[in-house]
Amino acid sequence: MAKPVKHKKVNKTLVIVVAAVIGALAYGAAHLANTSGSNQTASDHKEAKPWYKNHAKPPEMIRLPDAPLILAAKEAEVDETIQELKPKQPLKKKQVPPPASVTPRLNSVEISAKPVAPPTVYEEALPQDIYTPTKTATKVSTPDPAPEKTPPPTIEHQQPRWMQYALKMDVPKDTPMIALVIDDLGLDRKRTARAIALSGPMTMAFIPYAKDLKKQTGRARANGHELLVHLPMEPLNAKIDAGPNNLNTHLAAEDLKDRIHWNLERFSGYVGVNNHMGSRATTDDTVMKALMSELRNREMLFLDSRTNPKSIGAKIAGLEGVPFAERNVFLDNVNEKDAVLKQLSLLEKVSRRSGFAVGIGHPRDGTIAALQEWLPTAQSKGFILVPISQIVLKNQGLS
Ligand SMILES: [Zn+2]
Repeated sequence: MAKPVKHKKVNKTLVIVVAAVIGALAYGAAHLANTSGSNQTASDHKEAKPWYKNHAKPPEMIRLPDAPLILAAKEAEVDETIQELKPKQPLKKKQVPPPASVTPRLNSVEISAKPVAPPTVYEEALPQDIYTPTKTATKVSTPDPAPEKTPPPTIEHQQPRWMQYALKMDVPKDTPMIALVIDDLGLDRKRTARAIALSGPMTMAFIPYAKDLKKQTGRARANGHELLVHLPMEPLNAKIDAGPNNLNTHLAAEDLKDRIHWNLERFSGYVGVNNHMGSRATTDDTVMKALMSELRNREMLFLDSRTNPKSIGAKIAGLEGVPFAERNVFLDNVNEKDAVLKQLSLLEKVSRRSGFAVGIGHPRDGTIAALQEWLPTAQSKGFILVPISQIVLKNQGLS
């Protein structure tokens, strides 16, 4: 009898213990739920969404901007725009050093695919100097012009490419030559057209990232001018952007090469290259050697704009066997007709002294007005207007 009683007692105790355990577990679970949910808001509790519904959408892929280097700014606003853009640039780009002007290799190709050109032309501060070489000309080491036994059958094919694209003209000996180069062309379409309409022969240097280059350069050529690629290169002032795909001192060798190729393939029919800006890059051995080696391969000439008197352009061109010329006078640091006319008279002086002179101007109102006045007088003053190729021929001792 005692057994079943005892058994009953045990059962009772068991039920109590089990009930107590269940109660404790329930309390514990409730408490746990409270503490784990302490980071959530009250509304989250109320909604009681399943866990998978509480997940946010995955973030969209962050892409690099299409054209971070180009400034769509009005002429007067260029500087402010650069400053405004600057702090944003590190956010857009992944790179740390160097700043501003460097873009990743692939990105530079993307930019080139659809260039967005600024509406107006800009330029770094150009030196006032008049460059007059002390020697008559620095000659490129050319083979001894000893007469060959059998003359080449077709001279045209033997000519380097720059000579094939050069305007053909006879320059009477002892007539001082003046070469006028208008660069920064192609962006300001209206003024570019006005510059092209001037009577030549002059040399028209087009910015490679301008639009409709085939049409614009075709018109310049049709109007009797010679063509150059106005190659954007890094200036000393880091606040000034030389434009997309510019050659700068931060680029890896392969990127540098890619950019040189890109710039030289925007249009055809040009005789060579002159630098846009470049007061830093033209003093850099690596950049200049990469450029000259490509110009040599393509048989093109180099005109050093000499935006920095310390430019090593002529030196490296000479070493690499690239025919070259150098700028003597900038015509329009002051964009006023009278100021430009004054620079043109300085150019005349250099030409009388050295036999030739190279002036660089830009598609600006003062420049165009001054040239309209000066061009018809050049011949009567005893000068002959020539394209840049004639100066290079003279430099090489070939004319
Ligand atoms: Zn320029």
